[in-house]
Amino acid sequence: MVKVVVDSMLGNLARWLRVLGYDTEYSRKMQDGDILSLAIRDSRIIITRDLGLHRRAIKKNLMSVYIPPELTEIADMLTLIAEKLGLSIDFDKGNTRCPLCNNRLSIVPKAQIASLVPPEVLNKYDTFWYCSKCRKVYWQGNHWKTISDTLEIVKSRLNRKTGGPSSAESRV
Ligand SMILES: [Zn+2]
Repeated sequence: MVKVVVDSMLGNLARWLRVLGYDTEYSRKMQDGDILSLAIRDSRIIITRDLGLHRRAIKKNLMSVYIPPELTEIADMLTLIAEKLGLSIDFDKGNTRCPLCNNRLSIVPKAQIASLVPPEVLNKYDTFWYCSKCRKVYWQGNHWKTISDTLEIVKSRLNRKTGGPSSAESRV
């Protein structure tokens, strides 16, 4: 699975990549030099809004994806990255990471987190994830609809461009 390091301007993107299960390093404090050495040490692909950093990375034979300033929507950024790196953008509930700290999340039985979430949430949802580092519980709450809609948009764009399943079906 691809490992990435995301520059300090792309915090929102970093959270999305973590939810999609990609090992994503991100910190607001990271300087260009930190990002380059992390990419070398950890074989991480750089994702950046900084053209200067992107060029330095390419010169060092590192893999880097440049996100131009006109790409502001998360769906546009994910489409570009998925195309450049051939990434899958399917949500896999068995392989997802904490959006805050990048730790792998584990699915936990309701009984284990019953004291940590409000009773109405516990009743309404079946799958809960736990971050052992942040001690935070996650579930697919109301905001999940927006997330899955966005992923569907990206997937349909990717299918259209590569002649994936949707266009193959329409030919039959
Ligand atoms: Zn965490």
